[in-house]
Amino acid sequence: MSNHSAIPLFCLFAAYHATFCPASYTAAADTPTGSLEVRRTLRDIPVETEEIRIDETTGGPLRRYKVQTEHYEIICCNAGYGTDAGKQLEHLYSCWQTLFNQYLTEKNPAKHTAEEKENKKNNDQRFRVVIFCDQQDYRKNMAARFPAASRTNGFYAPPQPDKPSAIYCFPQEPSDKNVSPAARKVLFHEGTHQILTECFQKPKQKPADIPNNFWLVEGAALFMETLKIEDKQYRTGDLFDNRLYAAKIYHFERHFRLPIRQMTAMNRVQIQTSPDIVKIYDQSAALFYWLMFAENGRYRKPLFELIRHVHQGKSKPEALSTLTERSFSDLDKQYAEFLKTVPE
Ligand SMILES: [Zn+2]
Repeated sequence: MSNHSAIPLFCLFAAYHATFCPASYTAAADTPTGSLEVRRTLRDIPVETEEIRIDETTGGPLRRYKVQTEHYEIICCNAGYGTDAGKQLEHLYSCWQTLFNQYLTEKNPAKHTAEEKENKKNNDQRFRVVIFCDQQDYRKNMAARFPAASRTNGFYAPPQPDKPSAIYCFPQEPSDKNVSPAARKVLFHEGTHQILTECFQKPKQKPADIPNNFWLVEGAALFMETLKIEDKQYRTGDLFDNRLYAAKIYHFERHFRLPIRQMTAMNRVQIQTSPDIVKIYDQSAALFYWLMFAENGRYRKPLFELIRHVHQGKSKPEALSTLTERSFSDLDKQYAEFLKTVPE
C-alpha cells in the first residue's frame, strides 16, 4: 500500500512467471553518490493493445483497453497510459531479475532451471494490473472489492486460490498520457510486492504468512520507489530520499530508535497497527538502504537470502544477525553510523 499512514492493511502479493534473468543482465556497481547502478542491455519492449468491453451490473458495458507486455497484462482506460505503465513495469521486472540473478545463485542451477520451466509451463499468466480512470473510479471500485484499501493510492492484492492477484492504481490526473513521477513510485512500490511475492511462490498458492521481518517487505518496496531508468542502466537507491532523512531525525533528535532485534521480530499486524507505523516504515527504508550499501555491498547477498526466506514464510526472527554473521548490537551500531552519513 502506498498511503501507509492511513490504512493498516498489507498490500501483499502466484508463481515463477518467467525464467529469471537473461545472461545479459548481470553486473551491478556502486556509484560514489550512493546509488546502485544495474547495467542492462537496451531492448525494445513489445506491447500489444486491444480494445475490450467489461460488463458492469449497472450502467452497461464499459470500454476499456487490454495492454500486454512480455510479463504484464494491464486493464486500463487509456491505452497510451497503459502502454507506458507496462514499459515501466517491465523495467522494474528486469531490474529485480538482475538483482536476483546476482545474489541468489542456486547451489544446483540445473535443478532450479527445471523447476522454473515446470512452473512456467503450468502458469502462463502474466502479472495483472488494473488502472482505474481516476481517483474517484479507484475509490469506488476498491470500496466494493477491498474496502480497507479504498483510500490508498495503490494496492497489491495477493493471489488467492480462486482469485488472481493484481495491482490496482490510477493516474494522478485523468488526462495524463504517461505515468507521472508520483504514480511511478506507486507502480514500483506495488510492483515490487507483486514480483517478490509471486517469484518465490508456487502458482495460485495463498501467500505465506510472514511471522517476522515484515519490515523487509516494505523496506524493499520503498527502496525500489527510487528506481530511475537511464540509457544504459537502472539506478536505484537515493541517499537524498526523504525517508532516510526522516529516519535520521527520528533516531538522533527525537529518540525513536527501534532496536534491530525488536524490529526484525515484528510481523505485519504488529507493524501496521503500531502508532509508530510511519516511523517504522521510514526506518525500514533506511535499514534496507544501509544493508544494500554497507561495507561495499557485503550484506547484499544475506539481504537477498532474507528476501527469499521472508516471502516464502520461512524466516526466523534472528535471521538477519545469523545471515550477516553480526550480533544485533553490532548491527545497531553500524546502522547508526550509516545514518550519520545521510545528507541533510
Ligand atoms: Zn507496501
